[in-house]
Amino acid sequence: MISIKNLHKSYRMGDSSLHVLKGIDLDIKEGELLAIMGSSGSGKSTLLNILGMLDSLDEGEYLLDNVLIDGLTETTAATYRNKFLGFIFQSFNLINYKNALENVALPLYYQGLGRKIRQVKALEYLEKVGLKDWATHLPSELSGGQKQRVAIARAMASQPKVLLADEPTGALDSKTSNEVMGLIQQINNEGKTILVVTHELDIANMCKRIVTLKDGVIVEDQKVEQVIAEKYV
Ligand code: ADP
Ligand code: MG
Repeated sequence: MISIKNLHKSYRMGDSSLHVLKGIDLDIKEGELLAIMGSSGSGKSTLLNILGMLDSLDEGEYLLDNVLIDGLTETTAATYRNKFLGFIFQSFNLINYKNALENVALPLYYQGLGRKIRQVKALEYLEKVGLKDWATHLPSELSGGQKQRVAIARAMASQPKVLLADEPTGALDSKTSNEVMGLIQQINNEGKTILVVTHELDIANMCKRIVTLKDGVIVEDQKVEQVIAEKYV
């Protein structure tokens, strides 16, 4: 599903440059639930952003679903991003003046679906994350865990091949983190490929494989005995 070879990335800092990713090789198969672990500043988000086509690579090769992701025009990149990838962020990134249903329906609008079908599908995904009864509530009326579940429903709505989550539990308490990871495990069990960036071992252990980054290189890549999170419903 994902294959990267000898990936390098630097950021320019005035006259100098910061070498953040220093030759990453990584293969991810369909159906994996993979944690990218490492301390703050180790390059996790940079790697995820490149995999998510939100940032470009300097050197190396990136294949997503057998498509070479490099030198694509912004329009083509956007098309692949919408078709292949769903994003989940630490801070949820919901639109504050839209209710839960409208937030989930938004990517369907960009896919060109009609109003009625958008509503039906969005409600279906809200039901999947246990929030059907919260459809008309604004983000400000939802708890952190509920907001993240709406964001997960939104990411799922466009039926991406891969879900990319950057510290999805970073703003949540441990009980709520567990519930959100339980949902992520459930979605993975249904076959979705999911990458979770985290700096917490507890969260990484709820995945099936842990890739550890340190100073821009992979220092460990291990299969783990997955810890099953509590169910939230
Ligand atoms: P992590 O997610 O593991 O905490 P990041 O990938 O966000 O790490 O950052 C890795 C390093 O790259 C850090 O030193 C960070 O300051 C730097 N960095 C990240 N993004 C940028 C950017 N857009 N411009 C300059 N430096 C950046
Ligand atoms: Mg980060």
